[in-house]
Amino acid sequence: MGLFDPYKGFGVTFSTMFKKPTTEQYPEEKKATAPRFHGRHQLNRHPDGLEKCVGCELCAWACPADAIYVEGADNTETERFSPGERYGRVYQINYLRCILCGLCVEACPTRALTMSNDYELADDSRRDLIFTKEQLLAPLREGMEAPPHPMRLGESETDYYLRDPDAPLPWQVADREAGTDGSSGTDGDAQGQAADVIERRTAGEHSRADEVPAHGAGTERAR
Ligand code: SF4
Ligand code: SF4
Repeated sequence: MGLFDPYKGFGVTFSTMFKKPTTEQYPEEKKATAPRFHGRHQLNRHPDGLEKCVGCELCAWACPADAIYVEGADNTETERFSPGERYGRVYQINYLRCILCGLCVEACPTRALTMSNDYELADDSRRDLIFTKEQLLAPLREGMEAPPHPMRLGESETDYYLRDPDAPLPWQVADREAGTDGSSGTDGDAQGQAADVIERRTAGEHSRADEVPAHGAGTERAR
């Protein structure tokens, strides 16, 4: 130890004493996360409320921590939860295992699974940290109906995946036709535009995602 080392040590102490404290007052003051922060997952819905998850298990296979459990099942004409053949009957994420890496989101072919900015995942119960499908599903927004119910956005799942997110929904078109939404004269145009976008998407010229925004404190992670 050198002769002046103790004075150097005191120098660090004294210089730190006059710096502004960086202590964060959590949980009283919560800071906003970065927009692409990897937080709690969300299972998204189509605009009519049907689920985007088709129970394919690709997310579970992609997970390096074996944190996802999925059981798929068949939709029936009397009990439909998603537009396609299958839906996720059981869906669980174990947050005791999850490392929030986002690989499951990358693996999902339908954009059913995304991550929100919600980071408050601590609990004193191991059981409560296994989130169920009901906890992970996005809330029902205006115009959505809780499944099971028939397809409202088209005849097949193709109509769901190729539709323009900005195109008017069938019930909005119906409202316009009935003149109950205060607008007029654009129905034919709107339907024509929607058909045009579907045509362009089929030709691979348009690929904008239409996932439902995440609820909670932040925004859904953009891809
Ligand atoms: S974020 Fe990573 S660890 Fe968590 S469930 Fe998805 S793939 Fe698994
Ligand atoms: S969340 Fe996506 S990848 Fe996982 S089972 Fe559902 S559709 Fe498949």
